[in-house]
Amino acid sequence: MSFDYDLFVIGAGSGGVRAARMSAKYGARVAVAEEFRVGGTCVIRGCVPKKLFVYASHFSEAFEEAAGFGWQVGDPKFDWSTLLANKDAEIDRLNAIYIANLEASGVEILPHRAEIIDAQTVRIDGREVSAERILIAVGATPFVPQIPGRDYAITSNEAFHIDALPPAITVVGGGYIAVEFAGIFNGLGVETTLVYRGEEILRGFDDEVRRHVHAEIAKKGVNVKTQTDISEIALSGNGYQLTFSDGSHAQTGLVMYATGRVAKTDGLGLAAAGVETGDDGHIPVDAYSQTNVPSIYAVGDVTARAQLTPVAIREGAAFAETVYNNNPSAVDHSMIPTAVFSQPPIGTVGMTEEEAREATQAADGVDVYASVFRPMKHTLSGSDEKTLMKLIVCRATDKVLGLHIVGPDSGEMIQAFGVAVTMGATKAQFDATIAVHPTAAEELVTFKEPRS
Ligand code: NDP
Repeated sequence: MSFDYDLFVIGAGSGGVRAARMSAKYGARVAVAEEFRVGGTCVIRGCVPKKLFVYASHFSEAFEEAAGFGWQVGDPKFDWSTLLANKDAEIDRLNAIYIANLEASGVEILPHRAEIIDAQTVRIDGREVSAERILIAVGATPFVPQIPGRDYAITSNEAFHIDALPPAITVVGGGYIAVEFAGIFNGLGVETTLVYRGEEILRGFDDEVRRHVHAEIAKKGVNVKTQTDISEIALSGNGYQLTFSDGSHAQTGLVMYATGRVAKTDGLGLAAAGVETGDDGHIPVDAYSQTNVPSIYAVGDVTARAQLTPVAIREGAAFAETVYNNNPSAVDHSMIPTAVFSQPPIGTVGMTEEEAREATQAADGVDVYASVFRPMKHTLSGSDEKTLMKLIVCRATDKVLGLHIVGPDSGEMIQAFGVAVTMGATKAQFDATIAVHPTAAEELVTFKEPRS
């Protein structure tokens, strides 16, 4: 049987683009459908613009800190519309590069929404096309709980385009996005409240990291309210009135929900094609990203394995290797270095102390090496921000099981330390590495005594 395409990719985000380009390189005839903008969440309304906003929000602190180094900065002014325009120009530039790269790889871009009709057919722009295989890479979309007034809330999608900064904002959630945006708004001079339903923000991270970040963002001025949930949002004056679950109220200028992201599978035609989905709409796949329908695969956030761009890229690449290069490749999701661009940022790889203690219970347990210190820059800057460095070592094997940093440039550090930890480096090998002085990272190769 002949098909219009060998591979039809739905979604031109990080995972879809990598899979499409590599599959085409291996000789497949590939089309990719995209209903919004080529580049996906990360490039268009995620990691990239977020990081640009993080840079922007750091300046307020940098201007204050400059005085200790002899600089008189005067009275700095911030213009939100300049930042938005420059950010949009950069996103347009990246979007154009993504399109050019796809075209140069021989991938046909179809700028429309696609819907699956059956295991090898897709409807797009009013016509049906056939493909030997379909790859679903549609990503995820912000989830906002069903509470009265939820439509007044913005999500990260809108946060990149608000007309003007409000005087005050309430950010709901305690995960990556909530903590990152709380830091952004706070740094840009917005009175910021972070509302989280649980006991401590950043569930899933090392407990000490969670407490440290909470304390540091609070010191910078974010009002962190834990064990608090919003039950209603109502219009009030120029802003909103929030009703909390204990019946109390608060006024705010804007409400942003960052309460997780769910697979964007509504209306995709999965049921018609017989593709199974989980309760929350995500698509379960095997180690090779194959769904229960053999001709249909899925990569990236839609599979809810780890909602991270580099993971989606790896999954897209592994798919192309497996299917079009006769090289079965499964992505190892067990060791994922990651950064949260909070202020200060977090870099983390491997197990939390809690996970390591659990995992080594039967063996000898773990040694924990940790230090909290004032980074050198802040000896003159006047800032009382503290850095946390933490190493979790298996007593039986001397292997470093987890490494956690909260402090400037920890995202950069964790990329490099991630190599060592992924390779299974031991504490002795860390110790054998000569320190780079004066840096913060040298702490991690000079730890002497474990915590008792
Ligand atoms: P997360 O899953 O990280 O966090 C969701 C937060 O919302 C949690 O604190 C959760 O609380 C809370 N929450 C969930 N449901 C409700 C509810 N009904 N009411 C109140 N609170 C609720 O999701 P994010 O939206 O922050 O980010 C989505 C994903 O995007 C992340 O998992 C991450 O993988 C990725 N990402 C990565 C970044 C990076 O690499 N730097 C940056 C941004 C996003 P609880 O803990 O109690 O469940």
